[in-house]
Amino acid sequence: MRLSRYFLPVLKETPSEAQIVSHRLMLRSGMIRQASAGIYSWLPLGFKVLKKIEAIVHEEQQRAGHIPMLMPTLQSADLWRESGRYEDYGDEMLRITDRHGHDMLYGPTNEELITDIFRNTVQSYKDLPLTLYHIQWKFRDERRPRFGVMRGREFYMKDGYNFDIDRDSAIHAYNRHMVSYLRTYERMGLKAIPMRADSGPIGGDDTHEFLVLADTGESEVFYDSAILDLQLGQRAVDFDDREQCAAIRQEWTSPYARTDETHDAALFEAEVPAERRRSSRAIEVGQIFYFGTKYSDKMGASVVTPEGTRVPVHMGSHGIGVSRLVGAIIEASHDERGIIWPEAVAPFKVGIVNLKQGDGAADAACETLYAQLQAAGLEPLYDDRSERAGAKFATMDLIGLPWRITVGPRGLKNGVVELTSRKSGATQELRPEDAVARLRDIYAGV
Ligand code: ATP
Ligand code: MG
Repeated sequence: MRLSRYFLPVLKETPSEAQIVSHRLMLRSGMIRQASAGIYSWLPLGFKVLKKIEAIVHEEQQRAGHIPMLMPTLQSADLWRESGRYEDYGDEMLRITDRHGHDMLYGPTNEELITDIFRNTVQSYKDLPLTLYHIQWKFRDERRPRFGVMRGREFYMKDGYNFDIDRDSAIHAYNRHMVSYLRTYERMGLKAIPMRADSGPIGGDDTHEFLVLADTGESEVFYDSAILDLQLGQRAVDFDDREQCAAIRQEWTSPYARTDETHDAALFEAEVPAERRRSSRAIEVGQIFYFGTKYSDKMGASVVTPEGTRVPVHMGSHGIGVSRLVGAIIEASHDERGIIWPEAVAPFKVGIVNLKQGDGAADAACETLYAQLQAAGLEPLYDDRSERAGAKFATMDLIGLPWRITVGPRGLKNGVVELTSRKSGATQELRPEDAVARLRDIYAGV
């Protein structure tokens, strides 16, 4: 993409309505604009990041054997009356009446709708296990929408639902989700810690939230610092292997880690040596639940067993805050000059800065680099505007592309360009073709 033809409305001033750094940087870098309270338009740069995060979520869900689909945003109130949640959900639910007087709602989550689909289509144990998921907009009429996309009213969420024959199988589904979520967040360059949590209006016994440590987070958490050393890394995971998934769950849930809702100060002190006890603020980026037959009992979702009896299915639901993650990643990765995107979610993989637009040699070298990077799938953003170098650097730093290639007449006389890491600031002089090769290597490992 050439910056001269892109739509990147960066702001020079810091917007006064933004209280936290991710909100400020998303507004300043032209990623989002507020449409109304807690509701945002995703401008091209923000949309690109959102789609990259979404793509990682899809890949990791399908790696774990979960099946993608798409349910609507608007749902019939009748299903929610069956589960009893139409009244329970309260003011957070946006209720709508259509022209025929039917009560509708903008879905805050989808347990009822998916259970309805299941009960109308699945009758036999032979169709289990089954995990369906979608990534769809949700609406919750939050009392205090704030912090930009972190606590929106309309937000983008991956929600998945498992259907299993018995408790053991459903617990495996729970463990499988935990492992797949750990992989998902690691791929995005995030450390998200599973913490024992409270189940809230979804209901159920087993539940963990995934939290990213950040001073601006809305949750208060208590944990054993040993958990920060755990990494899934490149280990091979067989998502059908119950023992392996259970062992990984065990590994991550043995060190003490709880949100304030379930925190037990006496236990914390008894279990964790003083020098490893930590408390912090954190951002919730996902949550998994096992709730057994709560919905299947009420809504009649059952299967026939091999013995010929009917049993209600055991279910769980599992959510990832896709749009919130955009903000959470920025909270975890920025400096005073702007965003620092982890390579896996960067909107463009590399920026090209032409120090002297209009200089024949510089323009030609940039064009060649641009073509080569594009051919290599390295998604360059070429700043081809007639701005001064300082302004171009400031824009690149603000929007946080992980790598920058700087091209100027002086370097070109020696046959080199500069390759700079946004994160470390380290710069190397390389021949242009070697810079492309370096980037190809770097991104091959992402
Ligand atoms: P919170 O406690 O932050 O209100 P929740 O526990 O009600 O969230 P879940 O039902 O667990 O939310 O939804 C799954 C994920 O969706 C959450 O972990 C979070 O990342 C994201 N999410 C929830 N509410 C919002 C919101 N208002 N804006 C943006 N993302 C949200
Ligand atoms: Mg939650």
